[in-house]
Amino acid sequence: MSAVVTRFAPSPTGELHLGHAHSALVGWGTARRAGGRFLLRIEDIDGTRCRPEFTAGMLRDLVWLGLDWDGPVRLQSEHFDDYRAALDRLAAQQLLYPCFCTRAAIKAEVARAAAAPHGAEGSLYPGTCRSLGATERKQRMAGGEAYALRLDAAGAVALSGPLWWEDEIAGRVAADPSSHGDVVLARKDTPASYHLAVTVDDALQGVTLVTRGEDLFAATHVHRLLQALLDLPVPRYRHHRLLTDESGRRLAKRDRAATLKALREAGQTPAKVRAMAGFPDGVAVRR
Ligand code: GLU
Repeated sequence: MSAVVTRFAPSPTGELHLGHAHSALVGWGTARRAGGRFLLRIEDIDGTRCRPEFTAGMLRDLVWLGLDWDGPVRLQSEHFDDYRAALDRLAAQQLLYPCFCTRAAIKAEVARAAAAPHGAEGSLYPGTCRSLGATERKQRMAGGEAYALRLDAAGAVALSGPLWWEDEIAGRVAADPSSHGDVVLARKDTPASYHLAVTVDDALQGVTLVTRGEDLFAATHVHRLLQALLDLPVPRYRHHRLLTDESGRRLAKRDRAATLKALREAGQTPAKVRAMAGFPDGVAVRR
């Protein structure tokens, strides 16, 4: 069997906090214990929210924490060609369509429709632009109207057939990508969505085990479908628990006191912070 390859893939929209440290340590520890590889990827496709100074701070925090990674750091913003190629492949399968709806229009349409479709994460895109004719699409695109590219989920599922993935905690999971509806895979200002970039990159980088928080469990339904459509290898998954604060709330970027930078500046040692993130030194890597 080939060696395990894990990764940590933060988005530089803020500073790393203890929850990120936990996630990074799960991936790093698993790879290091198995004599495998641990990769670092910066998910900075959203130019409106990501900032290079956050990327620099993240690398600094990880080194301070005692983590190392194999090979160069992959910056997603340098690889739009890879995501474009994946979009082209989906388009060739007639599985993409342009969507001209604004957020407000979608909200209004969902409110209007008595039986608006609902999925795992709230109401789904009602499919307004799915049925536009080819001529109208062409005209609106040529007229400079902004549009996103959506996946025709029903068509995609019909093509892929039943799918599943192996999760080290949840076991064998049947994929239910329709629960997300026609997801956006690209926008004018962000030419690749999280779903597309993460799926393409995990395959391109040879990741064999995706370790990430259980808040991203639902996203894997979509990723599994994209793997099938793009003919990509299927990694194993481990969606780990999320760290919470004393009141049981999950840690977020807004919790300034829990950022690694704040803890470092308050005089905490890397060993203490690793322990706070659930990894006391000398204890075998936990799930
Ligand atoms: N970039 C994502 C985040 O920071 C994580 C992506 C992943 O691990 O799949 O939430």
